Amino acid sequence: MNIPPEAQQLIALAREMRHLAYAPYSGYAVGAAVLTDNGRFFGGCNVENASYGLSVCAERTAVFRAVAEGARAIVAAAVVTPDGGTPCGACRQVLAEFAANPSECPVWIATPDHLVGVYTLAELLPHAFRLPR
Ligand code: ZN
Repeated sequence: MNIPPEAQQLIALAREMRHLAYAPYSGYAVGAAVLTDNGRFFGGCNVENASYGLSVCAERTAVFRAVAEGARAIVAAAVVTPDGGTPCGACRQVLAEFAANPSECPVWIATPDHLVGVYTLAELLPHAFRLPR
């Protein structure tokens, strides 16, 4: 598979972020990274809580970091899990909120050791919820 340089950088950041995961309950460490329309990279990791429902996924941590730094448009994302798992439904919806064009927003899926594949966000979340604007 041909992996563009910026995707390689995105995947590398997600792999780094996975080491920062706080996952004492599930043991399922996840790292994520997003690339914004102005070329900035933001990473995130999952952050669990003793009250399980308060846990936040790596993808949302990355998106929220980007937004808190002023970003409003995400053009690519990467997720690194132990087994090549894809983002949960909640994270797909959060990514869709900030993806200017979901059908052209790749989401790279990898494990710590290899690339599993790539989907567009539109493939991962067809018919995303959107409020009329
Ligand atoms: Zn999630």
